[in-house]
Amino acid sequence: MRTTRYGALAMAAAAALTLSACGGGGETEGGGEGGGAEAGGETIRVGIKFDQPGLGFDEGGSYSGFDVDVAKYVAGELGYTEEQIEFVESPSANRENMLANEQVDMIFATYSITDTRKETVDFAGPYFIAGQDLLVAADSDISGPDDLNGRNLCSVTGSTSAQRVKDEFAEDVNLIEQPGYAECVSLMGSGQIDAVTTDDIILAGLAAQESNQGQFKVVGNPFSEERYGVGLTKGSELCSDINAAIEKMIEEGAWEEALANNLEGVDYEPNAELNPPTPDDCA
Ligand code: GLU
Repeated sequence: MRTTRYGALAMAAAAALTLSACGGGGETEGGGEGGGAEAGGETIRVGIKFDQPGLGFDEGGSYSGFDVDVAKYVAGELGYTEEQIEFVESPSANRENMLANEQVDMIFATYSITDTRKETVDFAGPYFIAGQDLLVAADSDISGPDDLNGRNLCSVTGSTSAQRVKDEFAEDVNLIEQPGYAECVSLMGSGQIDAVTTDDIILAGLAAQESNQGQFKVVGNPFSEERYGVGLTKGSELCSDINAAIEKMIEEGAWEEALANNLEGVDYEPNAELNPPTPDDCA
């Protein structure tokens, strides 16, 4: 069912897209004729998450997930082979700094486009739209953020999820911040916290992990829109080419295929009204 629905969505989106949405066809920094990738065997450094199954996950030196697949497609369009991609772990709290210090060239790491972040980094995209939700124990009675008063809630430092909790629920909830979502899930497994909050697609991937199966459920009541962008250094010239590559990935059906492959066995339905998005955000 999902595949059929997304096929129709992708075709509709493709029909609606214009090639001029954000330029396209310009020179890129690393790829193309005489670019570093083909000329000198250079690599492109791509920041991803290493601990988010189905999105960015380190399988012992090889990397899987939807972010990884979109990154590979985009890098390919920029002129890089898969061997020329160097994946670098980019935890939530380090993303802006890693770009500002030029430790990575692009970040595909469930990285929401926000005005605050745009003060430090540029974004291409969006290439996916998720929503913030809650992961709770399978038998929990928590059904939304309003039920969190007096409870222990875990999220990740430097994420929009933790920031939203601080801004909107901090008065009555006890927020515990961790460096990664896997740490939050293990704290919940040992009964130290009542809920984990971040994007629904991340939570669903964690819940589906073999070691967690049957233990947790995603509440399914999203309370934000998280537009996943490609993080870039300020002033990067890659934005239009990246957006053109994402458009092409959607048009060709590779976006839909990557999403379906990475969500196999995961109890998650992407918001069909918002996905696939139009990548028109060259900040
Ligand atoms: N998408 C949100 C963010 O960019 C939460 C997920 C994450 O921490 O990567 O902050």
